[in-house]
Amino acid sequence: MSIKTVGVIGSGTMGNGIAHVFAQYGYHVLLVDIKQEFLNRGIATISKNLDRLVKKEKISEDQKIEVLDRIQLTTTLSDLASCDFVVEAATENKDIKFQLFKDLDSILKPDVILSTNTSSISITEVAAQTGRPGKVIGMHFMNPVPVMKLVEIIRGHACSDETVAVTVELAKTLGKVPVEANDYPGFVANRIIMPMINEAIYALMEGVATREAIDEIMHLGLAHPMGPLTLADLIGLDVCLSILEVLHTGLGDPKYRPCPLLKRMVAAGELGRKTGKGFYDYQ
Ligand code: NAD
Repeated sequence: MSIKTVGVIGSGTMGNGIAHVFAQYGYHVLLVDIKQEFLNRGIATISKNLDRLVKKEKISEDQKIEVLDRIQLTTTLSDLASCDFVVEAATENKDIKFQLFKDLDSILKPDVILSTNTSSISITEVAAQTGRPGKVIGMHFMNPVPVMKLVEIIRGHACSDETVAVTVELAKTLGKVPVEANDYPGFVANRIIMPMINEAIYALMEGVATREAIDEIMHLGLAHPMGPLTLADLIGLDVCLSILEVLHTGLGDPKYRPCPLLKRMVAAGELGRKTGKGFYDYQ
């Protein structure tokens, strides 16, 4: 089946980036969220990011308008019935994703691949919510989606070779580099980066150094593009916490225990850039 229309679920940090990239590469996009205000915020972010590309002369003003025209907003999941491929990028919460996949399975045509951008939830478990486990796959984009080249492709237990092949090819049409991984907690990227972020938060909590010092040491000393606390703010502290919880329970090793300071900040609603405050202030 040729893929022309792509459904993207969730218009937050990742969803709006995913919708942006699909639309930029010529796909028609249906972007879904639970409230119109979230969709409005998502499309405003896409517009702002396209403006940056116009300023850098990577696309023209007309192309920007065409990209925006290819994105349709909706709060009704059943509007995705006409889609040829779906990327789910809703909140990192098992119950939400399980319900979405049950609903999507009944809404979408039977041959449509359902992918999830989850950072850590088992692809096999998500697939088991549907009657098409062979057509469910992890398509893990990196943040910020329009900039980052990698897409981690995660094969669930029942995932078919054809589903992997179609998803790999689709990622390539977006100018991305797909890399395959198997379905274990955190896959590859988060299994390695999250313990580092968690350790940086422990270092801050224990007063080993200031937030600026921790970030500067990792940035200048280890040539990371940004320090781990800045990165945590970019990812979202709630997302970091839920990934660490999945690593902790999924692998059963105490080394993944989420730092109490991270838990406290999430409880206080300090989630990083998206709420204007995390380890740093963005107001
Ligand atoms: P976010 O909180 O910024 O956005 C999530 C969006 O999903 C919100 O707008 C919310 O309203 C919407 N949503 C919740 N339930 C919904 C439903 N039933 N139907 C439609 N929309 C719904 O989260 P995010 O950071 O964009 O993360 C989305 C997914 O991407 C998660 O699975 C996360 O693990 C994954 N991810 C995040 C990052 C990152 O750096 N933030 C990187 C890679 C993958």
